[in-house]
Amino acid sequence: MQLILQSFAILFLAASCAFNGSSQDVHFTPTETWSLDVQGKPLKLTAINTGSIQIKQCHLENCKDEDSSFPRRLISILLDSTPAPKRLPILTYLIQHPEGNFLIDTGADPDWNNEKSWECSARSHFAAKRIADVQYQETNSFIQELRDLGVLDALHGIIITHAHFDHTGNLRNLKAQQYIIGKGDIDNHDKIGAVKCKYLEGLPLTEAPFAAPNDQVSDPYAKSLRSTPVYLTKDRSLRYYVSPGHTPGSIVVVQSTSQGDMVFVGDITFSGKDIKADSTVAGMHFNIPQIREAHRALRELQTTQRLVLLPSHDEEISHRMNRFILRK
Ligand SMILES: [Zn+2]
Repeated sequence: MQLILQSFAILFLAASCAFNGSSQDVHFTPTETWSLDVQGKPLKLTAINTGSIQIKQCHLENCKDEDSSFPRRLISILLDSTPAPKRLPILTYLIQHPEGNFLIDTGADPDWNNEKSWECSARSHFAAKRIADVQYQETNSFIQELRDLGVLDALHGIIITHAHFDHTGNLRNLKAQQYIIGKGDIDNHDKIGAVKCKYLEGLPLTEAPFAAPNDQVSDPYAKSLRSTPVYLTKDRSLRYYVSPGHTPGSIVVVQSTSQGDMVFVGDITFSGKDIKADSTVAGMHFNIPQIREAHRALRELQTTQRLVLLPSHDEEISHRMNRFILRK
């Protein structure tokens, strides 16, 4: 009973702090493609900006103790009235691999402002609109971008780094042979802010199992992330690892090329720069000690592998990829 009263008090307070986004200009970084190769065969990476997201300061930088529970930190975000200084891009990545086309995340939701599309979960609707403001890229829609790139009807796999609403938009409008998402996110959808009924229900999902360390696998990513790789291509250059922390089922995707490894980290970090031991971390992480461990693993990998980190909300992707390819 006390819990119910507390919940109502929190909802009442949060309702009085409705988050209406910001009037900042929304800049959409243009779609950009890089040509690389894998074992002598051409491979392309395209970063597609599907929209932008305005989050709050306590979401960008945790304002509670790091060992405080996720619900406490979530409440601090709901009650926060300070927007983060900048809107962030919402990126998806298309890998045109010699064995097929793979899409990493499906970006902003075109139905964000369509109230009817939220009817299946009033609670998710209430929370999502107080956590963030999303602007969808309308001038050249994500679906149209994929059509222009010639892959709309030829997607081999879609890999969702985690089940948050800014990573699963459009999913229902895309056909692929496989839709991969962490089992940890499906099992905990109601705790992590995934809107399962709106984005995921009814899709033939392949659930990535929980991370399982395996000492038999001689793979630096498996060792550092303590997770067994799941290969997506026969040449084994494209694979994923389950790396919990941002959500219980978060996935890290790695594509090895002759130029080095592209490491798609989802929201394990919002910026490729912020994985230092003394960096502040986001308040939205489900488990901050696990995130600190994932950051440590990525730092370790940076010392032994030639790699580029590609987060989902990093506005410096273009610069980062150009530097990676030019080997500067
Ligand atoms: Zn995100």
